[in-house]
Amino acid sequence: MRYDESSPPSPESASSISPDRPWYARRSTLVVAAAAIAPACLAGWVLTEVLGGGASDDSRPPRIVMPLSASAALPSASASGGPSGSPSASPAGSPAGGPAAAPAPGASPGGTAPAAANALAGRTVVIDPGHNTGNFQHTTEINRQVDIGSNRKECDTTGTTTNSGYMEAEFSMDVSKRLRAVLEAKGLKVVLTHEAGKARPFGPCIDERARIGNEAAADAVVSVHADGVSAGSRGFHVILPAKVKGGGADTAKIIEPSRQLGERIAGNFARTTGSAPANYLGSGTGLVVRDDLGGLNLSTRPKVFIECGNMRDAKDAAQLSSPEWRQKAAQGIADGIVGFLGG
Ligand code: ZN
Repeated sequence: MRYDESSPPSPESASSISPDRPWYARRSTLVVAAAAIAPACLAGWVLTEVLGGGASDDSRPPRIVMPLSASAALPSASASGGPSGSPSASPAGSPAGGPAAAPAPGASPGGTAPAAANALAGRTVVIDPGHNTGNFQHTTEINRQVDIGSNRKECDTTGTTTNSGYMEAEFSMDVSKRLRAVLEAKGLKVVLTHEAGKARPFGPCIDERARIGNEAAADAVVSVHADGVSAGSRGFHVILPAKVKGGGADTAKIIEPSRQLGERIAGNFARTTGSAPANYLGSGTGLVVRDDLGGLNLSTRPKVFIECGNMRDAKDAAQLSSPEWRQKAAQGIADGIVGFLGG
């Protein structure tokens, strides 16, 4: 219901997490300064996590992976060392991973590269609108099991809805098309994994969704979703691939660039929408790692999912149902992608 697959997460992904800096520790000095001025934004997220304890009301335990200390959210954390992993693993050449990557004052939080146009030329982004409005009428087809490398899962799921019936599949398609328009205006080539309708009465299956990104040689892939957990659980989170190897899955090469992509998107999404990172998982970082999503496991390109909010919470649902808010969401995701690509 919540994601494209349904088995409970295993604890193994937690051990695969590098002691990375949180995404906001890498943001520009401008943003950090703004956060210091407005502690209700940044510090508030941390407090939310501490008070919330990460408990989920959903039947599935959350997969929390970004260890967070209160000090990590301090602006001074931006000067701390880089990640312990690969220093420059991003195929996009994103400089975000290294200590020398501190952005210049006044730099856009979405990116620091000066040659923006060149950085985006010839680049491809694949957008994956989560679920399909037709899935409800094709339960047999979408329940077919497919190989996700480490396991077998349903081809696709119906997704969730708001209490008033606004479907996650409608939401994800709307945001995806808005996102496509923003990215195309930047000169990027954009591929949607599907546009529902007659050409795609259901699905695609999650393995095909991954394959579309791979075959497009996408420089970045984003799967757009909204969550469906109980009222009171609010905010967005970005899902990053765990280290998975088995069958057709081998995520080793995409883990670090996907993290960089996810951090960029989380930071920009928070900025454009005003939404806070989820208060029910992710330790207040807005970042979660999972190893049970075929769409991530089978990807060979930098890829993340974004859960833009909780459709079952009235306040989040009001935002998700607003075209104006969805445009801000698309803008934030786009800014994150563009920043990741160095534009
Ligand atoms: Zn979903």
